[in-house]
Amino acid sequence: MLSFWEINTFGQYDVAIIGSGITGLSLACSLKEKNPKLKIVIIERGTFPAGASTKNAGFACFGSACEILSDIKLMGEEQALALVEKRVKGLHMLRARLGDDKLDYLEQGGGELLFKNESVEPDQIEYLNKLLYNIHLKEVFKFDTGKINSYGFNQDLFSGFISNSCEGQIDTGLAMHNLWQYTVSLGVDIMNGANVDEIDAHNDEVHIIVDLQPSGRYILKAKKVAVCTNAFTGKFFPDLDIAPGRGQILITQPIPNLKFKGIFHFDDGYFYFRDYYDRVIFGGGRNMDFKMETTTDIALNEDIQQRLSYYLKELILPHQAFEIDHRWAGIMAFGKDKTPIVKQVDKNIYAACRLNGMGIAIGSLIGEELADLMMNDKL
Ligand SMILES: Cc1cc2nc3c(=O)[nH]c(=O)nc-3n(C[C@H](O)[C@H](O)[C@H](O)COP(=O)(O)OP(=O)(O)OC[C@H]3O[C@@H](n4cnc5c(N)ncnc54)[C@H](O)[C@@H]3O)c2cc1C
Repeated sequence: MLSFWEINTFGQYDVAIIGSGITGLSLACSLKEKNPKLKIVIIERGTFPAGASTKNAGFACFGSACEILSDIKLMGEEQALALVEKRVKGLHMLRARLGDDKLDYLEQGGGELLFKNESVEPDQIEYLNKLLYNIHLKEVFKFDTGKINSYGFNQDLFSGFISNSCEGQIDTGLAMHNLWQYTVSLGVDIMNGANVDEIDAHNDEVHIIVDLQPSGRYILKAKKVAVCTNAFTGKFFPDLDIAPGRGQILITQPIPNLKFKGIFHFDDGYFYFRDYYDRVIFGGGRNMDFKMETTTDIALNEDIQQRLSYYLKELILPHQAFEIDHRWAGIMAFGKDKTPIVKQVDKNIYAACRLNGMGIAIGSLIGEELADLMMNDKL
């Protein structure tokens, strides 16, 4: 049961945003930066942001050589390049909004490891470097096979390495904490432990049925609503092309004299690892069992986790002792199309979701794009 004061203060907003991941928080910031007078609430079911934005690996990346080549095949050069540009632009926005210290942003580069049966031709790397020159103003990709040895990776199984001089990484927890604090500092209310059950368009406002502990269900009213719930957006709009994709991940205990720094991918990007100071974060393996991993159930997959441990020992740290400190899983959102969804779905109801595995780079821009769409629609 709510009091008169609660209904009067927390019952009516200009904008209600569902989900406090990087997309929801960025949208709130963009709206407030454009119009500080807007009364905005973010409704989040977790005690703190509890989605992919606080469970990811912290790669601030715009695409590996093989990924961009495969995107060009799939989407054509123009669209693939536009997606790279969006990631780069989004990352610049995030860095400008918070500052590198508040993200612990490090640009240590990284690269892509190729198995013996994989090959990329020198003219493909030259082509990519020319294509990306206008964005990065320097050569991005380079064959650098000697790194396999100097970084201590397994030389019997990996035969190629394409370095990427522009890749960055962040401390995901720190970044989200600071984005959250910045959003609140702009005057945005955030309701935590509040699960949205339903959204209904009613004349010139939207009714949001919120299950709020310990008060129970109540109707929050807003002029406009934005759904930023990633893979969970399908619950509200079953017709949108969104499929969940679970990601498995682990972190080691500190490893003395770790030989590499930066972010790395192999097996077409399905496996990825990085340093976190003297630890290793290693994730992926969805391609081992797509069916099982197409789920919104946030749980470990024992087979994939075992494969991560095995690859870590055999491929990445073949001559180093290590212990696993922690394992976890999170849910991403995918679709037939690799581009995120930013659209109006009903009268006064909008969605920004399906950020694939690139939300860190692109999330701020997606928030900005939806803010523009909403502002242009009489907000
Ligand atoms: C294991 C893993 C590794 C990843 N690694 C990287 C990486 O290295 N680099 C990268 O760029 N991207 C990575 N990603 C992807 C990236 O994390 C996502 O693209 C991004 O975080 C999506 O942000 P979002 O705000 O759209 O969604 P989310 O962060 O998932 O936020 C959605 C929010 O909505 C809330 N919510 C859901 N339903 C409701 C409801 N009914 N009522 C109220 N609240 C609700 C959730 O609790 C959640 O907080 C990874 C993802 C995973 C899972």
